Amino acid sequence: MKLQRVLQYAQQLLTDAIEVGDTVVDATAGNGHDTLFLAQLVGDDGQVFAFDVQKSAVDATLYRLLDNALEHRALVLHTGHEHVAKHVQKPVTAAIFNLGYLPGSDHDIITKPNTTILAITDLLQLLKIGGIIVLVIYHGHPGGKEERDAVIEYVSHLPQKYVHVLKYEFLNQQNDPPFIIALEKMKELPTDIKT
Ligand code: SAM
Repeated sequence: MKLQRVLQYAQQLLTDAIEVGDTVVDATAGNGHDTLFLAQLVGDDGQVFAFDVQKSAVDATLYRLLDNALEHRALVLHTGHEHVAKHVQKPVTAAIFNLGYLPGSDHDIITKPNTTILAITDLLQLLKIGGIIVLVIYHGHPGGKEERDAVIEYVSHLPQKYVHVLKYEFLNQQNDPPFIIALEKMKELPTDIKT
């Protein structure tokens, strides 16, 4: 297989961007798979900030970290990613979002356009030059298409001198497969950037 699957490609982007000692964000901790992956990349001198609005997701993420003896590398916060700027004060190298609902949990608790875009906006300010935000966009569930369209509208209007925006998508897969939007920061953004 020459073309990487969407989740593989998301991990590749993170692996290429992150170095030991970095500060990174998992904006949607869920069952903690990405938090663990990030914790492995940042090493003992780095830190992962993980966010989720569900207590069960926070607990699952903490258990996964404990299982791998990596809990000291992550701060798992029971709050929405729209509050990222309150909790993260250091420059960030990378952030990952998995949009949608947590499989095996309440399908009514989904990420939402306004809060997702608020978090992306704040993360673009926190990001180092050359840092990336990876969004894995699931859009098959009720509310998914509205969020997908709002995010695409927002990122498509980010000025390219500040941010490069990539879409990675298989065009002939069935049943609304997830796709990636990746943002790479090229230059410090004005705080009042208009999109
Ligand atoms: N990356 C996760 C994993 O490895 O298991 C899967 C994430 S799941 C697709 C989406 C998660 O986003 C759910 O756990 C949900 O509770 C969470 N979520 C919804 N709204 C949120 C918000 N405003 N801030 C942070 N997390 C949110």
